Amino acid sequence: MEVCQTIAEIRKYVGRARERGIVGLVPTMGFFHDGHLTLMREAAKVCPTVVVSIFVNPLQFGPTEDFRDYPRQPERDLALAREAGVHAVFMPDTAEMYPLPPALFVQVERMDEVLCGRSRPSHFRGVATVVAKLFNVVAPDMAFFGQKDAQQLQIIRRMVRDLNFNLELRAVPTVRDSDGLALSSRNVYLDEKQRVAATVLFRSLDRAQEAIRSGERNREAVEKLMTGMISAESVAQLDYASVLSLPDLDPIEHLEGSVLLAVAARFGRARLIDNVIVKIGSDLKS
Ligand code: AMP
Repeated sequence: MEVCQTIAEIRKYVGRARERGIVGLVPTMGFFHDGHLTLMREAAKVCPTVVVSIFVNPLQFGPTEDFRDYPRQPERDLALAREAGVHAVFMPDTAEMYPLPPALFVQVERMDEVLCGRSRPSHFRGVATVVAKLFNVVAPDMAFFGQKDAQQLQIIRRMVRDLNFNLELRAVPTVRDSDGLALSSRNVYLDEKQRVAATVLFRSLDRAQEAIRSGERNREAVEKLMTGMISAESVAQLDYASVLSLPDLDPIEHLEGSVLLAVAARFGRARLIDNVIVKIGSDLKS
């Protein structure tokens, strides 16, 4: 496995690797768990060359957020990536990615204002900008993203369309612990009590899904159900529990077609998110 720290090195590597066939990219911020590794394994199934980027992107953290404290463990990550069948890791430092303070940003309007965009106003602009840069640097044929970050995925999809990036996006289902908690690098912030409480995110989504399956179609009723469960958990500080349309993340009143149920809450220092997609057929209950 090749480890590249500069843009010139990874470009050179990808240039040679392209002779073997298509190149897949898995963008990450490192501190790998099984969610990241699943993305890499999925990429390795279809791409003769898999590149993983590890970059904790300062542009997507707000001034009071955890950029400095974000967990990092490059040596362990490299060993795990190697085991997962990755061919090259691109791990630039901040100066390599941003030699100058950026003058150009990629912003996917409106979709970045809902859900996490409300409490993290410049987050998705930072994400879209760094992912656009990674696409330009690596020039992958395929890129792999987790459904866990559903809003990020839809925003990147829209960016790829609007900017004509010549690549295919693949979404990978959320990898969870046995009790339903979505794996996240930020789960390390949780103490024992918070870790138990954090399962309320998935439980609320599960209950909402059940209600929809039983015929509930009212947006407000579904949101109330999730809000009620999360608010009842004393350790949780609710950020949002929302139902939006897919793929555009538009507001809806009556549930039909593909809808996104998305929740976010703080458990101590950890701000965690989760979501599920529900497909509602016109003639089926769900
Ligand atoms: P991050 O390092 O948190 O930026 O995540 C890198 C990629 O891994 C993103 O595409 C995430 O959506 C994806 N990812 C993170 N957690 C999970 C998970 N539990 N299941 C599936 N994908 C995940």
